[in-house]
Amino acid sequence: MEISLQHNNESAVLELIRSGRLPHTIILEGGEKEERDSAALLLAAGAVCREENPPCLSCNPCRKVLDGVHPDVFRPEPSKNLKSGILSLKDLRDSYLAQMSIRPNEADCKVYIFSDADKLLREDSQNALLKTIEEPPQSLYFIFNVQSAKSLLLTVRSRAHIMTLRREEIKNEDTEATAVALIDGIVSLYEYDLLHTLFTLSDKEGLSEALRVLTDKLRQALSFYSGVMTDDPSVKKLTRKLDRRRVIALIEITNEAVNKLKTNVNTQLLTTWLSSQYRRITWQK
Ligand SMILES: [Zn+2]
Repeated sequence: MEISLQHNNESAVLELIRSGRLPHTIILEGGEKEERDSAALLLAAGAVCREENPPCLSCNPCRKVLDGVHPDVFRPEPSKNLKSGILSLKDLRDSYLAQMSIRPNEADCKVYIFSDADKLLREDSQNALLKTIEEPPQSLYFIFNVQSAKSLLLTVRSRAHIMTLRREEIKNEDTEATAVALIDGIVSLYEYDLLHTLFTLSDKEGLSEALRVLTDKLRQALSFYSGVMTDDPSVKKLTRKLDRRRVIALIEITNEAVNKLKTNVNTQLLTTWLSSQYRRITWQK
């Protein structure tokens, strides 16, 4: 399998491995499923690689992990007789728990990767693993992959190192430039200018970052009316074109948009709505 991880997450995983204190129970949350699986493979390779800076990803053990054939890296799958992606307690016991105390085949340790762990492991199975997780032998590592760690039992969570995969942060200059472009759009006579900038922000995180910086600038404009000077040309532009009442309304509507972004809203519908709200506030009498 190819390792597909954003640079920031890859660095975080490598840092954890190379700290020399790889936690025996790790919950990988956040990101896409593919990324969590990649991170888990990287961790597993880190645990079995014997080269100087593990994982080297080119030695024999590393390659076996990536190819999914390392005899000490286990990826428990749902029980065949159950439809819903669940590993039955019986199968967990018979196929995995019973073998955990047996020495590893090739490496110094065994790694168990539970993908979609919240679906795979029902409460009874998570409880069955607890005892081992509580006092893991040196030779055992557990990796639980889930969208949110909260979907696992608190007792499991509290004994695990939780690692959250994050989106790479958008470069600050880009966000700043976008916020400035949004201000230009807001004060522009032409609705197209605003819509154009909003439509370039098709992903939620980029949009919400830009709106956060915009809110910051709007607040600075508000302070300007209370006598606080500003050097920021985009803030000056706002204060030249808009009065206090309008700036307050812009802050409120921007906040509303940021909150909507936290829900399952369609980004394009949101930007269209936001554009019309900005126009209404800016150009109403
Ligand atoms: Zn290696």
